[in-house]
Amino acid sequence: MNFINELFFPRHCPICDRALGRDEEICPECSEIPRLVPPPHCRKCGKHVSEPGEIFCYDCLRTPRAFDGGFSLYEYASVHDSVSQFKNLGRPDYGEYYGRQMGRILGARLTALSPDALIPIPLSEKRLRERGYNQSAILADGIFEITKIPVKEDFLFRAHPTKVQKKLSRAERQNNMKKAFHIPENDVKLETVILVDDIYTTGSTVGAAAAALKSVGISRVYFVTLATGRGL
Ligand SMILES: [Zn+2]
Ligand SMILES: [Zn+2]
Repeated sequence: MNFINELFFPRHCPICDRALGRDEEICPECSEIPRLVPPPHCRKCGKHVSEPGEIFCYDCLRTPRAFDGGFSLYEYASVHDSVSQFKNLGRPDYGEYYGRQMGRILGARLTALSPDALIPIPLSEKRLRERGYNQSAILADGIFEITKIPVKEDFLFRAHPTKVQKKLSRAERQNNMKKAFHIPENDVKLETVILVDDIYTTGSTVGAAAAALKSVGISRVYFVTLATGRGL
């Protein structure tokens, strides 16, 4: 952002919304609020596991996963309000900060996977029109700014509008998600990709997207999300 832009459109703190000074991205008082997902982590999905010696979380133990692995940056409870404003209340600027934080803090782990591309989880056309932006694409752009892993947006699409997941049972969710994604391109040359999403809950969304990507011949599919937590 150049000086004139900052003068008229200063950045705002993603936590308390205070206007920030030049080169500030979050106010010092708020910078300690977002909490990283504490170890130990599930070896499959990166969620915090609480029992000593636990290797996989409850969900990963009983659900086959189409993705090869993944992890999240923050505990959802610590950034709940801010993330909900980013997603639902027209604050894409908060996501720009969060995307860069994902790149700064998780960048080395992402790069170590030797990915060909970051693929943001797409929205349906209707949702995209209503919201005006895809929050996952904003996060992916922030990760790119730091890591230079290219973002591939016109690749994975929503096949048809999905029902609101929260109202469905687990079995209904999985069934509903199965046909949720669509890849029009036949000639795929990607080997390893990283899906980018805002929140990881049961893994049904990234799982269904990973299954779609693998069905067109992509060998390794990982994911990274901004936040995760229990009881979402
Ligand atoms: Zn603040
Ligand atoms: Zn897990």
